[in-house]
Amino acid sequence: MKLNLDGRVQEILERGQTGVGLSKEECIYLLGFNESSPESSLARSVADDFTRRRLQNAGVIIGQIGVDIAPCVGGCKFCSFAEGHTKFQKFRISDDELVRKIEELTEHGDLYGLFLMTMHVYDKDMLLHMIDIARRTISPKTQLWINVGDTDYNTAVELKKAGVRGAYHVCRLREGVDTNLRPEDRMQTMRNMLSAGLELYTCCEPIGPEHSVKEIVDNFFIGIDLGCIQHACMRRIAVKGSPLEDKGQITDLRMAQCCAVLTLATSKVKGFKFMSIHEPNEAGLLSGANLITAESGGNPRDIIRDTKENRGWTMGGCRKLLWESGFTSLRLGDESHVPLTFDYLEKTGSI
Ligand code: SF4
Repeated sequence: MKLNLDGRVQEILERGQTGVGLSKEECIYLLGFNESSPESSLARSVADDFTRRRLQNAGVIIGQIGVDIAPCVGGCKFCSFAEGHTKFQKFRISDDELVRKIEELTEHGDLYGLFLMTMHVYDKDMLLHMIDIARRTISPKTQLWINVGDTDYNTAVELKKAGVRGAYHVCRLREGVDTNLRPEDRMQTMRNMLSAGLELYTCCEPIGPEHSVKEIVDNFFIGIDLGCIQHACMRRIAVKGSPLEDKGQITDLRMAQCCAVLTLATSKVKGFKFMSIHEPNEAGLLSGANLITAESGGNPRDIIRDTKENRGWTMGGCRKLLWESGFTSLRLGDESHVPLTFDYLEKTGSI
């Protein structure tokens, strides 16, 4: 039987696999196919091959610790911490608990980067204190990153001086509509982080069934145009009790299709490193993503105070998922590699 694949898709993917990037219009065309179509499968396969070739088939694990929780002024209609509908009370982890959580994540020395996450409004002194604790607890093989609210340039410089390597920051889909925050402030924060010398990890999030392909692709290009070093796709979780719960979720497969197109679109960004799929799943790791996240502490997609007891992925789970997805090494924060084998999974208690 002759395969009857769309000719334009083949043409776009043939160029895409060379690392020249994709235009917005090409991304929109690829995402117009159903997630279970042969055209989508082909896009996922080409993106998967592209990432594995570019990064010597290495997977990457980062770990995120949500260090505080409070009814958050961000008011995001999909988040379990947003003021107006949250059930959480104010809470901050102790210094000892922070150390314990960092030690759990770094026990086997294979965590690429540690992220400290706060609410939108954060106490800078508290954050600098926690950065200091983290810096003294991790080894040089693990980078230190932050995921915080909108931040001015001077603060970004202080964070950089304190030993932070980079920042996760996003201008979300429907920012200012489904959130209380202003898109221009989100964008300015990313520019402030970059101007201060911090690396930028951004994401197209949180993708839901209501978002048009154009909205998704426009969001892809925020990170591409800014020159992010890591990009990602994250779907919106239908968090119980949140205003957007009834909108439901997209499938892992649709998210993987988004991830594949984003991988090829991002390939032209100078210095670009890793593509992430969040939350971790095998479809995404077979579609261009090679970075996943273990989580501990507060998590905007969880209704439990410490996500490691519920939604959050463990280091062992992440290692196993990367191995099952065919990655043969883990890349560390000093850019060295450790072989990812069945023996390694046993040795690290991951199976
Ligand atoms: S997603 Fe972040 S900024 Fe938005 S309400 Fe939740 S914690 Fe606040």
